[in-house]
Amino acid sequence: MDFPENQSEVKSENQAENQAGTQSGAQSENQSETRRAKSKKIIPAALLLTSALALSLALALLIAAGMISPPFVRDFRAGTLPVLVYHCIGTPPNKPDRGKSLDYLYVAPEDFAWQIAWLKKAGYRFLTPAEALTWQKGEKAALITFDDGYEDNYSQAYPILRQYGGVATVFVVAGDIGHHGRLTAAQLKEMADSGLWTVGCHGYRHQDLTSYSASELREDLRLGQQTLADITGQSIEAVAYPFGAYDERVTAAATDFFECGFIADPQRDGRIGPERMTIPREGVWYDRWAFRRLLRKYFPN
Ligand SMILES: [Zn+2]
Repeated sequence: MDFPENQSEVKSENQAENQAGTQSGAQSENQSETRRAKSKKIIPAALLLTSALALSLALALLIAAGMISPPFVRDFRAGTLPVLVYHCIGTPPNKPDRGKSLDYLYVAPEDFAWQIAWLKKAGYRFLTPAEALTWQKGEKAALITFDDGYEDNYSQAYPILRQYGGVATVFVVAGDIGHHGRLTAAQLKEMADSGLWTVGCHGYRHQDLTSYSASELREDLRLGQQTLADITGQSIEAVAYPFGAYDERVTAAATDFFECGFIADPQRDGRIGPERMTIPREGVWYDRWAFRRLLRKYFPN
């Protein structure tokens, strides 16, 4: 009774083996097919990866070039008015005794012309300080400012602004008018009369205003404002603090003389002074790519 049962067991085991053999044959066929399919898929996958890498590289280059802004990065400048600070428009003197330390004050005339033309073409409206106070978020505009009152603001920047219909503000160190390399009273008067320039105060002596006593501080601001008003015949309503140095005391004193005040940082310290007396500014000594990249932080398109 055991035998047939065993036979059938053997048979069934053989059958099972055969079946298993068949199955394993089918499996290996399947596997090799899978491998072929996989190898077929590897080529498109490699192509896809290469394309993705190339696309990422292209995007990174365009972002670096300032051609586009990454939508996922929101700069603190977004939604604020770009106020640019220049000093000299000219070729850096690069004198051995000065080294290259003052080179950052210079923007070459051709670069300045390119920057103003770019702003114009990109649809920026050029504002005066008074207009900056009522500027509405979203309006594409910029405020061009110059500090110290260098002579090249008249000889270099002025013709470029005239050519492109640009408007700018010059913050003048009133006590330096007519000094070597600085604007003369006649030049300043002509600039103010042109309607292209607003004249603002940059102190009378270009001292750190925070270092003054209360009476010195008021006297410097008063004398600076009075001197500039006498020359231009216009009221002087804006101040830019020398060295961008300000504190509560400085902004409080400045409020008594001026409608608005400008600092030298792109971001204000919210704890110091009212907003209109601490308007942030952006130093411009950049190349063209950097200029474009900077402005796109304010207006992406
Ligand atoms: Zn200065």
